[in-house]
Amino acid sequence: MSTPAERMAIEQLKPHGVYDERILQVMASIPREEFLPPKQRRHAYEDRALAIECGQTISQPLVVALMTQAAAPKPDDVALEVGTGSGYQAAVLSRLCRKVITIELEPALAEHASATLQRMGFSNIEVVVADGSLGWEPGAPHDVILVACAAVEVPRPLLEQLADGGRLVIPVGLASREPQDLRVYTRRGDEVTFRSLFPVMFVPLRSG
Ligand code: SAH
Repeated sequence: MSTPAERMAIEQLKPHGVYDERILQVMASIPREEFLPPKQRRHAYEDRALAIECGQTISQPLVVALMTQAAAPKPDDVALEVGTGSGYQAAVLSRLCRKVITIELEPALAEHASATLQRMGFSNIEVVVADGSLGWEPGAPHDVILVACAAVEVPRPLLEQLADGGRLVIPVGLASREPQDLRVYTRRGDEVTFRSLFPVMFVPLRSG
């Protein structure tokens, strides 16, 4: 018998461009319903974003998988996530790298996500209440930076805090009506280049 999360990985993720077996395995092993408010749980395995508290959303599973794949986390990496939300993306990242620092602007969301992650036994995730557009200097430079909200322009501190060889995955564009451009920025020494992945719809990166 397979679990709903295992079926999600095989039926919804693998056929849509998620080729990294580690990501498929990790997402098959994490029950997404645990990150949802009770009335949303029955929708946990529909491949779409869902409402959580504070008017925010948990990202669509396929987008979580493809962003994680673009960030290419390695077992020794430290990853920074901006926009903890439910904590689901942080949970996925945490099984693929050494440590995750995840920043959330809304204290209530940070507290809730932190409790969920603790209850589920994730021990290598640090949840911080702060403005993620400033990055997180204490842990810098970061091998992976994954931004789960849309920025009109890439915040300079995030580019500055990206390690040599590091990857920054971020939706860029106006957050309201128009889809944003999901980009992956890569640093090689002093040079930073990006490529566009696909259009996405994220809630806006707000400033604290
Ligand atoms: N990764 C989340 C989805 C996050 S939705 C998940 O897996 O559930 C985007 C989140 O970014 C929201 O919770 C929002 O409050 C937060 N956010 C918006 N602007 C922010 C900022 N400047 N710093 C930190 N978090 C921010």
